[in-house]
Amino acid sequence: MNVTFDREIAERPPGFQGPNLTPAGLDFVPRELAPGVHALMANLPPKDNSGVIAGTDAALVIDSGITPGIARKIQRLAAGLTPAPVRYLVNTTYHGDHTFGNAAFPADVTIVSHRANRDAMTDLGREKAMRAESMYGDDALLDEVTTWRGPDLVFDSSCEIDLGGQVVGLHWFGQGNGPGDTVVHVPSARAAWTGNFVAIGGIAMLLQGGPGPYLAAVRRMRDALPGLERIVPGHGPVGSAPVALAELITYLERLESEVAEAVRAGLTLEETYAACTDPFERGLPGSLLDGLAAYELPQEIARPRFLHAVRELHRLNVLVTYRVHTG
Ligand SMILES: [Zn+2]
Repeated sequence: MNVTFDREIAERPPGFQGPNLTPAGLDFVPRELAPGVHALMANLPPKDNSGVIAGTDAALVIDSGITPGIARKIQRLAAGLTPAPVRYLVNTTYHGDHTFGNAAFPADVTIVSHRANRDAMTDLGREKAMRAESMYGDDALLDEVTTWRGPDLVFDSSCEIDLGGQVVGLHWFGQGNGPGDTVVHVPSARAAWTGNFVAIGGIAMLLQGGPGPYLAAVRRMRDALPGLERIVPGHGPVGSAPVALAELITYLERLESEVAEAVRAGLTLEETYAACTDPFERGLPGSLLDGLAAYELPQEIARPRFLHAVRELHRLNVLVTYRVHTG
């Protein structure tokens, strides 16, 4: 089924709690994956990760953070990691937690993203309202985010950016979490930044379409980047690319088949929540536990916090898939 919504669904499951993405307490721990290739890992997952890729001539930043203040922090870090000037900023999605910082980058930095992301960046008020569910009463968006700078340059299927001895590939594989999920492939590190498109542990957040088109897009990515070893997701730990892609495919296949079956059986949405397998019933998968072990955070805090967040996303995914099937 290829149903997509023309913008993010606003409905949420009863009592839904979005992941905590506030800028409060957010710092980045740089992790060098290859020479000049730095993951900027949020100290408090699942707050937004970022990245800096440096060549001899220029550097590229991946995602600008949820506020201008976070964007300035990312630029200070970039300046300490490479002497190359930041010339490019890639937005992996249009979502405000990845783009509200755009305005704090100098005007001569070229912002690049998929065309669908630029097209989605028209209504700042609505976007701030959608992300408010992840702000837990923090007023940073109200106070700090007053303009929404969009991409200067867009691509449709793929493009390359040459930073000088370091070529970065941008790819769009299809509808995923959003309409324009942009994958940043860094061949020198056999790594890809995947934004909200692929995370570790079979986690997804369906907001604009069902599992059908998402599955097709993930399979396209798997086939297009066969040598890929690592994923740096927009949220949560770094992990193995083959494992992450396989886990996501398994998750989406089961979600699709279970919700489709529930709809065929005439179940209500309430009944469908109960009828679907909770993939995290017995806790977090090993891939996520391994990833979380890399954080400074005490595991007795990190694990339950993350488990709660992913179970909430699963309820949301059941809801969206149900709506896709029932119209
Ligand atoms: Zn995000």
